[in-house]
Amino acid sequence: MATIEMGSVGCISTSDGTVDEEFRGAVSSQHPHQYSLKPLNIVPSGIGPSSVHELLECPVCTNSMYPPIHQCHNGHTLCSTCKTRVHNRCPTCRQELGDIRCLALEKVAESLELPCKYFSLGCPEIFPYYSKLKHEGVCNFRPYNCPYAGSECSVTGDIPCLVTHLRDDHKVDMHTGCTFNHRYVKSNPREVENATWMLTVFHCFGKYFCLHFEAFQLGMAPVYMAFLRFMGDENESRNYSYSLEVGANGRKLIWEGTPRSIRDSHRKVRDSHDGLIIQRNMALFFSGGDRKELKLRVTGRIWKEQQNPDSGVCIPNLCS
Ligand SMILES: [Zn+2]
Ligand SMILES: [Zn+2]
Ligand SMILES: [Zn+2]
Ligand SMILES: [Zn+2]
Repeated sequence: MATIEMGSVGCISTSDGTVDEEFRGAVSSQHPHQYSLKPLNIVPSGIGPSSVHELLECPVCTNSMYPPIHQCHNGHTLCSTCKTRVHNRCPTCRQELGDIRCLALEKVAESLELPCKYFSLGCPEIFPYYSKLKHEGVCNFRPYNCPYAGSECSVTGDIPCLVTHLRDDHKVDMHTGCTFNHRYVKSNPREVENATWMLTVFHCFGKYFCLHFEAFQLGMAPVYMAFLRFMGDENESRNYSYSLEVGANGRKLIWEGTPRSIRDSHRKVRDSHDGLIIQRNMALFFSGGDRKELKLRVTGRIWKEQQNPDSGVCIPNLCS
């Protein structure tokens, strides 16, 4: 197998090495694998594997570069997204860019194996450069998005951090226990457009669950919907079930389901109708009184299922 000196790869830009040191320091203490290089053996003196990684960082947008990787006549590289934005001028030397692929660097990338970017969150996986991105999109260790609905919240993190965030920043009600009895009151139930939504967090079985309640238009019909989401991954959410019940005057609606993971957005769950849906007329009927005010009592329970082997079951209409 040929040994490639970094200097012989035509499109390498110079590097002062300072970032290398930081990067290496941050990685090596946590991850013993670092970057294994196969089949090319690129470890010339002075340029460690982490500078290979740096070479694959677009100097313009700093994202990782994927084929086609471009270069100018002087060898400055840039990613294909940036290439379309720089009007045929190399952002580094201002020379005309042309249309030159940097095949050598693409090949070097192909030979790299890198740890998942969530290794510091516990992911032990190593991937070829070009399949790393795909894994990271579905990595079990990737942070969760804030499950709060009703406003765009960009907070991400692990479950304990999100629970604290929900309590402190969104002032969400926190409850301990696996049964609940909630009353949703709204003085003007005609205003479904200004979606009323509420979130309550339940802590039981050592896990956290989000109970959502909201009003929206389903087709032409105003409805109320309640559903539970599990603060954790899909696989684990299947270990739990829940029921919701609403009624009055000798009638009741009961929903029984599996909580969806908060990996599925609040909106996705809502749009798949995976929960207790109550027509407004029915909701007002259940509210009693003069039907002017919504007073809906929702009771519910969360329980743990026995481990069952068909946990990979796909619910029709929910798996798109
Ligand atoms: Zn770029
Ligand atoms: Zn250039
Ligand atoms: Zn991962
Ligand atoms: Zn939030």
